[in-house]
Amino acid sequence: DLYNKVIELKGNIRVFCRCRPLNADEVAVGASTAIDFESAKDGELIVRGHVSSKKVFKFDSVFGPEEDQEKVFERTAPFATSVLDGFNVCIFAYGQTGTGKTYTMEGIEGARGVNYRTLEELFRVIKEREGIFQYDITVSVLEVYNEQIHDLLLVGSQPGATTKRLEVRQIAEGVHHVPGLVEAQVSNMNEAWEVLQTGSKARAVGSTNANEHSSRSHCIHCVMVKGQNLLNGECTNSKLWLIDLAGSERVAKTDAQGERLKEAQNINKSLSALGDVISALATKTQHIPFRNSKLTHLLQDSLSGDSKTLMFVQISPNENDVGETLCSLNFASRVR
Ligand code: ADP
Ligand code: MG
Repeated sequence: DLYNKVIELKGNIRVFCRCRPLNADEVAVGASTAIDFESAKDGELIVRGHVSSKKVFKFDSVFGPEEDQEKVFERTAPFATSVLDGFNVCIFAYGQTGTGKTYTMEGIEGARGVNYRTLEELFRVIKEREGIFQYDITVSVLEVYNEQIHDLLLVGSQPGATTKRLEVRQIAEGVHHVPGLVEAQVSNMNEAWEVLQTGSKARAVGSTNANEHSSRSHCIHCVMVKGQNLLNGECTNSKLWLIDLAGSERVAKTDAQGERLKEAQNINKSLSALGDVISALATKTQHIPFRNSKLTHLLQDSLSGDSKTLMFVQISPNENDVGETLCSLNFASRVR
């Protein structure tokens, strides 16, 4: 359809920038804002430095603190639903902890995020295409923590189940698979919601501080779509990945020791591997270094070929966060 044509013409990698509002604590201490949204409509974002310098960044869309979940999903939906047309799609939320990655992907009570809205939209379109297309939808929920893949649906549905370490295997040329991963068949939104809930609950299992743990792991939803065109018999097989990445903040070497240092190094490794892969894809480099991290290896099929990638770079408006904000914006500019 027309939307997909527009996306193809413009290339397959998109970057949206989203800035959260100042929170109550920041407002209480009179924190100032370092971000300007004057030209947000043109995809421009201005960061005022501590000094007089200012930097301008350009993205495919810029969402200021006033833009709600619905508005964000409006621009996200064409990507997400193209999985029904046989495209592989990856949607990431990248940024410092506390900037709204989970808010964007998972959402909160009363303000659902991309994960929920995507499934809802997929089922709406499937219904619309009834009689012309037939679809099978399965969902997996996994986590990559310290370069290990864990199955959150397995943990969530069988309390006490040991988190078996999963591996990525190549089963055919260009086809990667995670043997043993639970794939839950869902045929409506109620079933899909249950799966999402099970996954979220499992994320907290076995960690003393759920928030801290989740900021150090990549939380991944995979929606697998098998489609058949009932008019001509043509079949499609594609995947949509929805990924709440680990926090991108740099950890001072002096602050991190032991387990914490290992975590930080693994996060750093996988986020830079992701950046390397996406920018290699953007510049059509011959060798794409997929094998450098578990995450990029897992996503290999869905990042290459004519797949679509959407990255949300999440930022804080707070002047005190300008250092991390610039790091995130530079990362995102590199992959664009
Ligand atoms: P992250 O996952 O990047 O660590 P969170 O999604 O947990 O960040 O967001 C941190 C806090 O800010 C949460 O309380 C969240 O509800 C709130 N928040 C984030 N983005 C927004 C937004 N766009 N509008 C309102 N509240 C937000
Ligand atoms: Mg989070």
